[in-house]
Amino acid sequence: MQEQLKTLKYSYRKIFLECVKEAQNIDNLESVWGGQIKSELETIRCERENYSCAGCGACCRFAVSEFSPETLKIKAKNGDNFASQFINTFVPYESIDQARKIYPEYVEMLEELTDGNFYIYHCPKVTDDNRCPDYENRPQICRDFPEINGFFLPKTCSFIPWNLKFRSVWLKINAKIEIMNWMNKL
Ligand code: SF4
Ligand code: SF4
Repeated sequence: MQEQLKTLKYSYRKIFLECVKEAQNIDNLESVWGGQIKSELETIRCERENYSCAGCGACCRFAVSEFSPETLKIKAKNGDNFASQFINTFVPYESIDQARKIYPEYVEMLEELTDGNFYIYHCPKVTDDNRCPDYENRPQICRDFPEINGFFLPKTCSFIPWNLKFRSVWLKINAKIEIMNWMNKL
């Protein structure tokens, strides 16, 4: 996992520098890159349709948030739709060690990356054979998983090839957004 992270950071740095170079030859970044980003995101979304869920249940059993249940509830009360769906779907593990039993390498990575500043949740509804008992009415956050920005998917997730295929495109999109935001502040 650490190796993967190192490679990811290295790739991002390389892509970022390439984008900085590219930016020097573009007069109107918002217009040129804005259009490209929109079309790339559309391609990524469309391609996702070519993959289907293998039903491993990992995303139902292991959902990570930087927010505690209390904070999520406050955010939900204040109209945050994602927080509302999240806290209405997932409950926190009683302890990190309980979560560690499910996905040890992910917990290890989170501990290294975040100084322990994360919360791990699971859905109490998922069945022992990894089924969603209310699949047709599952929340949008469940339908949307995985997003392209989820770099470290569970090893059992059948969307990994899709994620890998578009990883560098997604990194480039991020680099362009970062550069545009920075230019806007000048
Ligand atoms: S609601 Fe269904 S799909 Fe969503 S996390 Fe729970 S079991 Fe999984
Ligand atoms: S981790 Fe991937 S394959 Fe497994 S249930 Fe979730 S979306 Fe499906």
